[in-house]
Amino acid sequence: MGYTPMMQQYLKIKADYKDSFLFFRLGDFYEMFFEDAKKAAEELEITLTSRDGGKDDRIPMCGVPHHSAENYIKALIEKGYKVAICEQVEDPKTAKGVVKREVVQLITPGTIMEGNMLEDKENNYLAALYSINNQTFGFAYTDMSTGETSAMKMVNGWPSVLSEIYNRPIKEIVIEDKLDESFKNDLIDKMQLTLSYVNDQTQLPDQMIPLIEGVNDELLQHACKILFQYLYHTQKRSIDHLKKAQVIELEEYMTLDMYSKRNLEITHSMMRNEKYGSLLWVIDRTVTAMGARKLKKWLERPLLSRQHINRRLDMVTGFYDQFMERESIRESLRSIYDLERLSGRVSFGNVNARDLLQLKNSLSKIPSIKQLLNEFNHQVIKDLADKIDPLQDLKMLLEKSIAEDPPISITEGNILKDGYNEKLDQYRHVSRNGKDWIAALERQEKENTNIKSLKIGYNKVFGYYIEVTRANLHLVPNDRYERKQTLTNAERYITNELKEKEALILEADEKSVDLEYQLFLLIRDKVKAYIPALQKLADLISEIDVLQSFATVSEENNYIRPTFSEAHQVKLEESRHPVIEKVMKSESFVPNDILLDEDKFMLLITGPNMSGKSTYMRQLALTIVMAQVGCFVPAKTAELAVFDQIFTRIGAADDLVSGQSTFMVEMLEANHAIHHATSKSLILLDEIGRGTSTYDGMALAQAIMEYIHNNIGAKTLFSTHYHELTSLEENLNGLRNIHVRAEEINGEVVFLHQIHQGAADESYGIHVAQLAGLPQVLIDRANLILTQLETKSGESVSPEQKVVLTSQQEQMTLFVEESSDSSKQVKKEEDNIIAMINKWDILEMTPMDAMNKLYDLQKKVKGMKGRK
Ligand code: ADP
Ligand code: MG
Repeated sequence: MGYTPMMQQYLKIKADYKDSFLFFRLGDFYEMFFEDAKKAAEELEITLTSRDGGKDDRIPMCGVPHHSAENYIKALIEKGYKVAICEQVEDPKTAKGVVKREVVQLITPGTIMEGNMLEDKENNYLAALYSINNQTFGFAYTDMSTGETSAMKMVNGWPSVLSEIYNRPIKEIVIEDKLDESFKNDLIDKMQLTLSYVNDQTQLPDQMIPLIEGVNDELLQHACKILFQYLYHTQKRSIDHLKKAQVIELEEYMTLDMYSKRNLEITHSMMRNEKYGSLLWVIDRTVTAMGARKLKKWLERPLLSRQHINRRLDMVTGFYDQFMERESIRESLRSIYDLERLSGRVSFGNVNARDLLQLKNSLSKIPSIKQLLNEFNHQVIKDLADKIDPLQDLKMLLEKSIAEDPPISITEGNILKDGYNEKLDQYRHVSRNGKDWIAALERQEKENTNIKSLKIGYNKVFGYYIEVTRANLHLVPNDRYERKQTLTNAERYITNELKEKEALILEADEKSVDLEYQLFLLIRDKVKAYIPALQKLADLISEIDVLQSFATVSEENNYIRPTFSEAHQVKLEESRHPVIEKVMKSESFVPNDILLDEDKFMLLITGPNMSGKSTYMRQLALTIVMAQVGCFVPAKTAELAVFDQIFTRIGAADDLVSGQSTFMVEMLEANHAIHHATSKSLILLDEIGRGTSTYDGMALAQAIMEYIHNNIGAKTLFSTHYHELTSLEENLNGLRNIHVRAEEINGEVVFLHQIHQGAADESYGIHVAQLAGLPQVLIDRANLILTQLETKSGESVSPEQKVVLTSQQEQMTLFVEESSDSSKQVKKEEDNIIAMINKWDILEMTPMDAMNKLYDLQKKVKGMKGRK
């Protein structure tokens, strides 16, 4: 036995939407079948039933009522699923055979438009990725709700893709099936994205070609095509609000890789992965949702052009200097609606009269904002005013058309104003007159019949009627009144006169509702023509919002405008950590100076736990990010350089949150920094080398510092608890020791969090213990053990094993002391080994390669030792 025709129809449609829940419309329900039903019943906690489908086994089934489907859809989307909505596309009454059904929309995490599924202050991105060699990637992402699309090329391999995606509100990514499996897994597991596929044969539909006009690079074009094709095939509705793809030249922005974004807590805190406790949390004083979204975008891409940075800073200064005017602007901005998302909904055809009313109200604020901007003294702000097109003709249109208190529905009338359309006015006149006439008739009939409780009513089934209570029935003039309906306590009648009027009124009402709907669609089309202008306005408004936010937060938190000097140096007086100073409640943050210049570009920071090393390092990075997005910074004075990249590495033991506490990860991260940093970069290495044994860790830490010092010259802050490393200052000219120490005040150990020049006291641990009041005998004993350990450690390494790590010396000596009877042969082998090591390209090796090479090396050395 085969499936019933309807099940065959279902299976045919489902075959095209394998990775989605298919919501199959059956009367008032959306039904799901087979695996879909089982999974949906589980995810949505609804009852799983079954139905006969023509075969012996019953088919698993579950369903949701169509009028409440939205919440179920939302729940599935939030879990990362896709939902295909399959509707009946012909009238069941007239259909021959099975009603025709089609998928009318595919709702996916990256393409939602529905207001209640979107976060106001967050973008919602759909991305696409394309690569031919798994090294260079074309990447594009779009926010359907706002219509913006960005495209960028990434040449630094997979980590750069992950960094780009990390912490960005990307929900779904379109890829080609041939993308490397491990990459796919990363996208699902690490980035928690929904994957969608397109095949690369498909052609971009004509109307979408203009969207990629400015994109010249082939790889990027391809990524954009994948993105737009997917939209075209899934959305099946107007997406005219999509703006041209903007190519983002990544070289124009500071690079913040994934680890830095996370460690510096730019937009999310590490502990709870939420906005609270992040830099964004501190500096977000925007008042519009558009502004909040833009601020986040700016923060994720600090600028590199000094000119652009200064332009933003000039505008912030302008807002900063005039408090009263700024407050007025803030007040006006508060009543501006989300114009970006409104534009998207206009294009989609799902705005109602209330949305347009809000648009009108927003537009009516624009002239005053323009005027307020003109009241600022700074020309850069007046320039902003000039750029604003207040779109007053659009406002006028909405003003005269849209009613002041329209209902949500656009099909039930009362959405347009009187006087907007003559025909509509006529219908309304008939209808209203009719209603007046009925009121008059009621009065008249009361008089004529002497029935005080007589009333005229209306219901949808019976139309107008005259109602007389049972007690008064004997007064009814039966010659004129015709019985229509009997209730328990009353009878309802109609008269010829009333019947005629009813027909007129109902016709007018019906026509007026129809006409209103038609007129509304026309108005919506007119608004549609304004979408580009509205998007431009939205862009300006959100920019003004972000700038005022910077000014507001700078004033409130006592920030200072940074300056940029020619020399690549940092001179911060009384610098503070913007977030920690905010979360600290009772006590206040201790400011410290930070100095880095061309001569001394590395700082080695020593000091006990909890003294403030990590804080000091991060506050420098955050200050630089703030400055390069155009915000003032937390310091008394700030002279900065423009940094091209920031790298942040945290020693494994400190990196509690990510769960990736392996030393390997730490080394991979360090490797990444070393590979990509330049002399214009900032590197923060916080307790690197901590995740392995002391000697390993120390050796690596030292080697990494030397490498950066000698080969990169990046500004570097390095914190360590290996006190031994402080002696590096003698060899590395560009390095300076600084430290934080614990102090005793009234017999108690306190951290003053003050940075001092020079290295920390060697035995600060024991010192702290002493301050903490541990018995003196214990302290003495600890000191004794320390000295013993120190001498012993010197001895425990046999001369043969002792590797001198200072690569400053041109000629590297592998063996410190040569055995007196070493033969020429051994010497030659030694030279060979040295030559071999010299040839290694450590940075290109996989860890496994390195292990193998070390193993070989050890074998050779063992052989040599045996012969000595
Ligand atoms: P370390 O890295 O040396 O172990 P942290 O930088 O993590 O220390 O700082 C530990 C705590 O000390 C911080 O969470 C903060 O509460 C406090 N702290 C650090 N620096 C300062 C400062 N400059 N002023 C006030 N409190 C600070
Ligand atoms: Mg620390």
